Amino acid sequence: MSVTVELAERVKLLPPYLFKEIDEQKAAIRKQGVDIIDLGVGDPDMPTPPHIIDALDLAANDPANHRYPSYSGMVGFNEAVARWYGRRFGVDLDPNREVITLIGSKEGIAHIPLAYINPGDLALATSPGYPVYHTGVQFAGGSTYFLDLKKENGFLPDLDAIPADVRRKAKLVFVNYPNNPTSTVAEADFYERLVRFAETNNILVCHDAAYSEIAFDGYTPRSFLQTPGAKEVGIEFHSLSKTYNMTGWRLGFAVGRADVIQALGKIKSNIDSGAFQAVQYAGIVALDGDQRCLSEINAEYQKRRDILVAGLRRLGFSFEAPKATFYVWVEVPKGYTSKQFAGLLLQKAGIVVTPGNGFGEAGEGYFRIAMTVPSDRIAEALDRIDRAKVW
Ligand SMILES: *Cc1c(COP(=O)(O)O)cnc(C)c1O
Repeated sequence: MSVTVELAERVKLLPPYLFKEIDEQKAAIRKQGVDIIDLGVGDPDMPTPPHIIDALDLAANDPANHRYPSYSGMVGFNEAVARWYGRRFGVDLDPNREVITLIGSKEGIAHIPLAYINPGDLALATSPGYPVYHTGVQFAGGSTYFLDLKKENGFLPDLDAIPADVRRKAKLVFVNYPNNPTSTVAEADFYERLVRFAETNNILVCHDAAYSEIAFDGYTPRSFLQTPGAKEVGIEFHSLSKTYNMTGWRLGFAVGRADVIQALGKIKSNIDSGAFQAVQYAGIVALDGDQRCLSEINAEYQKRRDILVAGLRRLGFSFEAPKATFYVWVEVPKGYTSKQFAGLLLQKAGIVVTPGNGFGEAGEGYFRIAMTVPSDRIAEALDRIDRAKVW
């Protein structure tokens, strides 16, 4: 005998998996023996630097770390985060009140709405954008008003264009720079406008800075918290995932306004018991240790970016060369939708890219290339697009 239990509305409300079709096509093409070049995944292909792995190794062998993470273990990582913020951004943080360890930043992003969103409440998030912003809000029973990122606005949200009733109702705004998927960066003046917007409309800012350390040409991305007044209106999410090639390790953190950090902690203490302490010790070594590994990682991405940008230009694509992140956000040639063009690249050239509408409706007309394969594969991909005369 089986049972029939209906799924919760929040699960039924989830959008259909937009990459399902591409995944199926990919599997079919791979079956034909095609050597697929996957430029779709936002997951670094390079390994975690060895000194961080060594630190995990050491900590994993200490039985004290086999138990639930201890409060003092948490403090050790939080202190390393505060030191790092001081060195990197000149931002002062109280490790006991203004820092919280996360099991990857996705975890914190998904959970923060549970602390602030009641059924029927509203949050703001950018479109295109990281899908977790609005699914987290949805899981809390709220809904999302999307702020479209348009080329004519430099892929920054037009805060002045948000209708008055939406401003009144909204409780949270999710923003992410350097941005996934558009690869745009934000400067001090944007963050100043964002802080004023939050103050004027009584909205908490959740800034996602997952890509702040992946940058080129000597460019240094900012922290939202460097903006005067930012710590009174919001928090910033961060992660070791992209910075140190640690996506699989699940270690991130949130910093900023103390009562918001505490509220997130309250939610989390009822859901999880923290990140594996050995991973936190390795995280301390990553943040406090030699940062030469970062320059090496960025030098590799820059090499890839240079090859990709030159190749895409030669092929006649329209796009902005990225200053940060490992993505390039490219306009789909006229006459195609994002999905059609991504399908064409796969069918004719064996190349996987992500159709822009997968990140929200405003991503239609674009596709995202992830530079998470070695440069010879990027060169090969460009060659194939050329030879296949894709469009
Ligand atoms: C990769 C990514 C994250 C980080 O995810 P983790 O859970 O820390 O691995 C957060 N935000 C964006 C926009 C990302 O692309």
